[in-house]
Amino acid sequence: TDHSLRVAPLLTKLQKDCATPLPVLRHVADAMADDMRAGLAVDGGSDLKMILSYVDTLPTGNEKGLFYALDLGGTNFRVLRVQLGGKEERVIATEFEQVSIPQELMFATSEELFDFIASALGKFAQKEGGNFELQQGRTREIGFTFSFPVKQASIRTGILIKWTKGFAVSGTAGKDVVACLNEAMERQGMDMQVSALVNDTVGTLAGARYWDDDVMVAVILGTGTNACYVERVDAIPKMTKRMSKSPITIVNTEWGAFSNGLPLTEFDREMDAESINPGEQIFEKTISGMYLGEIVRRVLVKMAKVGGLFGGSYVPEKLVTPFVLRTPDICAMQQDTSRDLEAVESVLYDVAGVKSDLSARKTVVDICDTIAKRGGRLAGAGIVGILQKMEEDSKGLIFGKRTVVAMDGGLYEHYPQYRGYLQEAVTELLGSEISKNVMIEHSKDGSGIGAALLAAANSKYE
Ligand code: ADP
Repeated sequence: TDHSLRVAPLLTKLQKDCATPLPVLRHVADAMADDMRAGLAVDGGSDLKMILSYVDTLPTGNEKGLFYALDLGGTNFRVLRVQLGGKEERVIATEFEQVSIPQELMFATSEELFDFIASALGKFAQKEGGNFELQQGRTREIGFTFSFPVKQASIRTGILIKWTKGFAVSGTAGKDVVACLNEAMERQGMDMQVSALVNDTVGTLAGARYWDDDVMVAVILGTGTNACYVERVDAIPKMTKRMSKSPITIVNTEWGAFSNGLPLTEFDREMDAESINPGEQIFEKTISGMYLGEIVRRVLVKMAKVGGLFGGSYVPEKLVTPFVLRTPDICAMQQDTSRDLEAVESVLYDVAGVKSDLSARKTVVDICDTIAKRGGRLAGAGIVGILQKMEEDSKGLIFGKRTVVAMDGGLYEHYPQYRGYLQEAVTELLGSEISKNVMIEHSKDGSGIGAALLAAANSKYE
C-alpha cells in the first residue's frame, strides 16, 4: 500500500535512534557505576541521590512474632500482618487488606489523612485472631512503606520533602511522617507504633532476602522505577555518622534520575518538555510503565501525520490526547499472534478510534517492540551497572558466585518481551559464564512482608 513507502524510512530512523547495541549498553552500565560512586561521595554529587536507608540489619529468617506493615504509595494503601515463626516455621500466617484513599483526602490536611490511615489500620488490627498472637507485654510494631520522597535521619524518622503522585496534603512537608502516623494512632488510643520506615524498593530487597541470602539488589519496574542494593559502609564517604556497628547498609539509588548517555529521540524530548518535571527522571521516562505507551503514541501521531500511517495525513482525533495509549495496551498488541493482527486492530480502534489495515498494524507492532526493547535493554544495563560497581569495590563479591536481583512491579511482571530484552542485555554485558550466576527473579509483593520483617529486625524489644 502507498503508506508503507512513506512509513518505512520513519520506522528505520526510529529503530536507529533507539538502538542499544553492546557499546551503548556498556556505556550506560559504566556511567551508572560512576554516578553511583559520585552520589556516595557527597550529597548532590550526581544525578543519583544514593539515599541512605538506615536499614543495616537484613532479615535472617530467625524473626519471630507478630508484626504489621503499612504500605502507602499511591491511591491505595495496604495493611498487612504476619506471624513469623523463626527458621523452622517461617511465615506461619499472613493477612492483608487494601483500602482506597477517598479522593478528598488527597487534598486534606495532614491530620485528616493520617487519622484516616490510623483508623483503617486500627480496624484491621481489631480483626486479629486465629494464628496471630502478640507476645506478652509488647505493642504492635509496624513497618511503614512510604513511597514519597523523605529525608531520613534514622530507621524511625523521615521528613517529607514533598508529596508527589497527585497528593496535595497540607501541613506535612518538613514534618516527620513517622511522628504524624504515631500521633494519629495515639489520638485514637491505639496500641501500635512504627519501628521501621522504608522505601518500597528497600522493602522488596528485605522481603526477598528473607528467603534467599544471595539477594543483593532489588529493582522496581512499575509505573515508575527505582533500585536499591546492599552496600559496604566503608564504600560510602558521605556517611559521616555510623548508626550501628553493621558493616553494610542498604542504599536507595533513586536511579530513575539517571540520564547519562541514553539513546533518546525527538519523541522523548518532547514528552519530557511537556511533562510536569522537565529535565528530571530521564531514565524513568525511558524505561518505566508510565511512559512507554506515551512514547509509542507520540510516534504514531507523527507517522500518521507525515507518514500516512492511517491514510493520507489523517491523524485520529483521540490519538492526540496525551497518555491515551497506555503501556498495557502496547503490551497487549505485542502479544497478538493472529495472522490478521486482530488484537492490534481492536486496541487501535478502542483507544484511538482508528481503522487500520494489516500493514499499518504491523508497523504499530514494530514501533511497540522498538520502544519496549530499548526500555528493557537499558533497564538491564542499569542492573549490570549496579553489579559492576559492587564487584569493582570488592572483587569476587558478585561475579563467580550466585547473586540474586529481586524484581517487582507491574511492568516487569506483565510484559514478557520487556522482561526478555532486559535479560538479553544482562547476558550480553556479562557474558554467558558470569550471567549464569546472576539470577533475575520476580519477587511478587515482597515489599509488604519485607517492611514487616524490617520492623521485626529493628524491633524496639531486641
Ligand atoms: P505501581 O508501580 O503503580 O506501584 P505496579 O507495580 O502494579 O504499581 O505497576 C503498575 C504499572 O505496571 C502500570 O502503571 C503499567 O505501566 C504497568 N503494567 C501493568 N499491567 C501491565 C501489562 N499488562 N503490560 C505492561 N505493563 C503493565
